[in-house]
Amino acid sequence: MTNITISDRSSYPAAHLHGVSKIYRQGSTTTHALRDITLEIASRSFCCVLGPSGAGKTTLLNLLGLMDVPTEGTLRVVGVPLLERGKVQVSEPRRDQLRRTHIGMIFTDFFLLPSLTAWENVQLPLLWSDRRDADFARELLERVGLGHRLAHRPAELSGGEMQRVAIARALIHRPQLLLADEPTGNVDTYTRDTIFALFRELHADGLTIVMATHDHDLARQLDNVVQLQDGRIQ
Ligand code: ADP
Repeated sequence: MTNITISDRSSYPAAHLHGVSKIYRQGSTTTHALRDITLEIASRSFCCVLGPSGAGKTTLLNLLGLMDVPTEGTLRVVGVPLLERGKVQVSEPRRDQLRRTHIGMIFTDFFLLPSLTAWENVQLPLLWSDRRDADFARELLERVGLGHRLAHRPAELSGGEMQRVAIARALIHRPQLLLADEPTGNVDTYTRDTIFALFRELHADGLTIVMATHDHDLARQLDNVVQLQDGRIQ
């Protein structure tokens, strides 16, 4: 397997949450998606957020991925104070920029562009930056075991291969934090195990990973499990 440097070299925690709550309001309906979450995610850790559907896993990953801001509390991600005691510290454009440069995200449904090859899909995030790094994109595809699939389009790949392309794409900016929201939710058990094994390899290389799942079999294999139920840490 190709050896490329993906280690997180930062000395601060990947994320720090204190008293974080997230409340969604829609008309007269109020949903407490997260309640009073206090948590530190160490740099170079592999953290599993475990819980049933509706527990708040996606909400938590969206906050860590700077897609949304908490309603209350203090949140720092990759060393940047985003919310201090309920007060937003960083503008939305700056959050977008931080996300693009420091955070990689992977979802259940891969979100690959069907008209692009695997190699082009991995380079896609570079459109929003000045960098052009086709060689690194190829190295990443080799790293995830797809060096022989560079010119394949998503329709010509298996579910597991598509998720590997999505993982390579999430790493193109050499992120400090990789967030994976139910990354094995759409694949069979064998593929789930190969994707999980890849995450473990990337973690062993020094990457910080937060993976949300409802899969107890996966959580059992990790030391660092945050169990959520009804928006609270159990
Ligand atoms: P999980 O990922 O564990 O399934 P979610 O974080 O998606 O849980 O959802 C937690 C709760 O917040 C659920 O009750 C869900 O319906 C609610 N929720 C999530 N996103 C929104 C939103 N954008 N607007 C209103 N309610 C939401």
